[in-house]
Amino acid sequence: MSLSRLSRSIEGKVAIVTGAASGMGRATAHLFGDEGAKVALLDIDSEKLESVVSEMLEAGHEARGWLLDLSDRQAIQGVVDEIVGHFGGVDILINNAGISIPSPVDSEDYMTAWDKVVAVLLTAQVMMIRSVLPHLRSADFGRIVNIASTEGLGATRYGSPYTAAKTGVIGLTRSLAVELGREAITVNCICPGPINTGMTAGISEESKVVFAKRRTAIGRYAEPEEVAHATLSLVLPAMQYVTGVTLPVDGGLTIKNA
Ligand code: NAD
Repeated sequence: MSLSRLSRSIEGKVAIVTGAASGMGRATAHLFGDEGAKVALLDIDSEKLESVVSEMLEAGHEARGWLLDLSDRQAIQGVVDEIVGHFGGVDILINNAGISIPSPVDSEDYMTAWDKVVAVLLTAQVMMIRSVLPHLRSADFGRIVNIASTEGLGATRYGSPYTAAKTGVIGLTRSLAVELGREAITVNCICPGPINTGMTAGISEESKVVFAKRRTAIGRYAEPEEVAHATLSLVLPAMQYVTGVTLPVDGGLTIKNA
């Protein structure tokens, strides 16, 4: 019996990447551009967004940026409508944007941190999914990758808003994978470990080396491109029977005991 050939190309697909102006979002937007996708880059930071879009256009990619505060619930649908108007549809959504506001649970401004973190990390992900869903359905194809964290699998002191939101992302991924599986839409999530991005830029090189050697099997921080390649694998057309998974891209952090 002959084997069916499954496509490993995302050429011509329309991909939305949130938080695309920095770190893993930027690396993912570039990689998808390299692979021939049309990329919609969303971010709250106009200067960085403009510079990443310029980089992509210079590299010959089809890309356009949209300035968006993902915690602004009213604004999300309008931006997705504009993306569809510009590119003609949506096939792939990478829910990547993130912030971290460490806060002891009994601190005065804890609930402010909670509201901000949950809005950007969790509520915005589901609102993006709701907005793109009709377009994935009409494409008869859909790939959603939600970026969670190893902080959704374990926890760090004072990180409870972040850990709660990231654990929520894992639950959201599983639930929507079950809900949308029969419509050729896959929903997966990635749990990055320690990655060199804007979010970890404030940690000293020395602390990074000590942490990575002690906690990961690979023994180093990763670069954002390494996560982008895992994300790309999950959105390939051929990747049609993988849904609801939680994929750590963490250098073995979650499996290392000693
Ligand atoms: P980063 O700071 O380099 O990039 C995050 C991007 O999100 C920035 O461009 C920022 O402007 C954007 N953003 C923040 N708030 C936004 C908002 N309200 N609306 C629109 N855009 C907004 O950090 P990163 O590490 O590349 O983060 C990407 C994802 O990876 C996040 O979800 C983060 O929680 C997750 N993560 C990071 C690490 C790590 O070690 N860096 C580990 C695990 C998970």
